[in-house]
Amino acid sequence: MKAEVICTGTELLCGEIVDTNSPYLAEQLRLLGIDLFQITLVGDDPERLHAVLQRSLERVDLVIAVGGLGPTEDDITREAIAQAIGEKMCVDPDLEEWIRGVFKRLGREMPAENIKQAMLIPSAHPIPNPRGTAPGWWVKKGGKTLLALPGPPRELQRMWEKEVLPEFRSHLPGEVIFSRTIKTWGLSESRVDELVSPLFFSPNPTLGIYAKPDGIWVRIIARAAAKETAKEIIRSVEAEISSILKDHIWGFDTDSLEGIVMVLLEEKKLSLATVEVGFGGLLASFLSPSPQFKGGLTLNPQQAGTMFIPNIGSHIQHEFLSVEAALDFGEAAIRYFGTNLSLGVVGAAVDTGEKRAGTICIGVVGRGRKRTASGIYPPYQLKERAAFAALFELRRFLCELS
Ligand code: AMP
Ligand code: MG
Repeated sequence: MKAEVICTGTELLCGEIVDTNSPYLAEQLRLLGIDLFQITLVGDDPERLHAVLQRSLERVDLVIAVGGLGPTEDDITREAIAQAIGEKMCVDPDLEEWIRGVFKRLGREMPAENIKQAMLIPSAHPIPNPRGTAPGWWVKKGGKTLLALPGPPRELQRMWEKEVLPEFRSHLPGEVIFSRTIKTWGLSESRVDELVSPLFFSPNPTLGIYAKPDGIWVRIIARAAAKETAKEIIRSVEAEISSILKDHIWGFDTDSLEGIVMVLLEEKKLSLATVEVGFGGLLASFLSPSPQFKGGLTLNPQQAGTMFIPNIGSHIQHEFLSVEAALDFGEAAIRYFGTNLSLGVVGAAVDTGEKRAGTICIGVVGRGRKRTASGIYPPYQLKERAAFAALFELRRFLCELS
């Protein structure tokens, strides 16, 4: 099955809101094995929307129109669909009663303009929307299917999951799609591609490589007639990828680096403090939900060597951008917070003369062990990269701790 998604809203074209509905639908369609051919953003303009709808209906079997189902004058999706399908809209008494009921429960009269949302065409079935007043439309005509879904993401997603998905699942051929995401740190996107793409020589499974703030993600997608077969296809490729990417792998699917670190700290009954020099405290903010995290110091490099951290040698002042300094800060944090471990990260977004802009140095210390690492990242992404690099090193440290 081939599909297109059309999102309407002048605010999308003005850059006032970012379209999050089409990425959501794109992923959902992919998981159903439906090929998404095109995503179109169009303003609240009846003629342009009508033209876009008509062209999509000529090209594909399934058209999903998102947004423009509100009660106001600029909500024109129903009218445009009616025109494209060549049918007249009428008020549906059941829908009208339902909308009046929604307002009644809120203790209000239905404003006259909301009657628009009770309109239907003969080929459309309403799709219930318990999170709003805009029912969706499920239109079937001439072998084509057209869905109209509301713009607010929580309304759209609920409608998709509860109303649309079960219907699609029961009608689509028995193919299942499974995906597995392997999350890595420490290799570039091109290096990961070079290492793993030779494993993907056939159309099934397919490979996706994505650069994310927490590293490079490798996604394996397998199709098969049965669930077990798809899972087996993934299992064997995953094993090969794991033997190639080894220690660079830190997690899978919905794992987050901070989540993994928090679990490890809890399992090993260890407490942690952080020091961030040259960063704004992002690392501490990632870790703050953990009861094992006792606190973090956030320092400006200019003040980093001064008195308010006890027992830090003056050498830090001179060469704060070093793994030794990261460890020294860490030792001070252990004393300050009374923890078992500390994670120190120092960095500079600008050239320091001795070190290049974007240099970071990491030190993990505690329980008689140390681990250090350093790297250079794009200065404009430095805070995020430094936080994830530090979490990655802490994870390795914790995994190696008996
Ligand atoms: P609409 O039904 O088009 O009037 O949209 C109502 C609201 O839903 C908008 O004001 C946005 O907040 C949200 N919305 C509409 N379309 C999208 C979209 N494609 N992505 C994310 N949010 C959207
Ligand atoms: Mg709108």
